[in-house]
Amino acid sequence: MHSFDYLEPKTVADAVRFVSDYGSRCRVLAGGTDLLLQMEAGRHRPEAVVYVGRIPELTEIGFSESGGLRVGASVPLRKVENHPEVVARYPGLARGCREVGSVQIRNLGTLVGNICNASPSADTSPALLAYDASVEIVGPGGAGRTQPLDEFWVRPGKTSLQPGEFVTAVLLPTPAADTRTFYRKLAVRKAMDLAMVGIAVTLRPEGTGARDVRIALGAVAPVCLRAREAEAAVERDGAVAVDEASRLAEAACSPISDQRASAAYRREMVRVLTARALRQLLGVA
Ligand SMILES: Cc1cc2nc3c(=O)[nH]c(=O)nc-3n(C[C@H](O)[C@H](O)[C@H](O)COP(=O)(O)OP(=O)(O)OC[C@H]3O[C@@H](n4cnc5c(N)ncnc54)[C@H](O)[C@@H]3O)c2cc1C
Repeated sequence: MHSFDYLEPKTVADAVRFVSDYGSRCRVLAGGTDLLLQMEAGRHRPEAVVYVGRIPELTEIGFSESGGLRVGASVPLRKVENHPEVVARYPGLARGCREVGSVQIRNLGTLVGNICNASPSADTSPALLAYDASVEIVGPGGAGRTQPLDEFWVRPGKTSLQPGEFVTAVLLPTPAADTRTFYRKLAVRKAMDLAMVGIAVTLRPEGTGARDVRIALGAVAPVCLRAREAEAAVERDGAVAVDEASRLAEAACSPISDQRASAAYRREMVRVLTARALRQLLGVA
């Protein structure tokens, strides 16, 4: 591996200074389960690596009824999946975290790293989109901004972060008490494999219909996305729109064929899983 400057700030302010000074010549390091392999392969050759795991406030995960869930940038996936409020209120996220690699990988790898790596098949992404997550970003001079997660990914491996910016946390609003969640990952192997298709659906049942419908799809387009037309069909027509919504979800995808699955199979599975999710959550046969 090439040589580089290695920096370990103890405060967000110092991290902001380092990341801003190096700009596009620097990479932020969290668990390193993606970054170090990419550097070894020569995909990234940063002049500086800024490790954010020694900044106390970024190691925190917390929930409040009014503020929702806040997961700091160096919180490992294992801590997220076992957090009692995540298990109780965001079961799709707990499940998505548990799908990542192995326990060893999840002890090191972080939720924010999974997001910032910008892989369309990242296992936590569908659930985060379905729970309306956003990212908290700081940049030069310490200026902060919050961005909805579905505007954060640009293409595989590329986020909207500008030189000098990094993510301090991922934020999830508190789901309504009647929210129901479906999460499924399809992969060739049962463990240690990337998704062929990932899907998370959340909704609030209302009679034979539903409101606040979210259908989020992973590994079937350059970025993880929401099938908004499918969501609208269910919000408008309820359970009778299940078949239509499944076809709309399929139409929202633009998958590739690779060693895991053909594009046609991925499309078909999006249709099948969307219908299954909606029937299960709406309680229809
Ligand atoms: C054996 C193995 C199996 C795996 N299996 C899976 C799997 O099944 N599913 C899956 O989704 N992933 C899998 N992964 C990928 C990886 O473990 C996850 O993506 C992990 O969550 C990355 O987190 P990290 O903390 O290690 O990120 P890092 O490697 O530290 O960083 C990842 C990227 O995000 C950037 N970054 C990190 N933190 C920030 C920040 N705060 N601000 C801005 N940029 C930042 C880094 O610069 C880098 O580009 C696997 C990896 C390995 C090695």
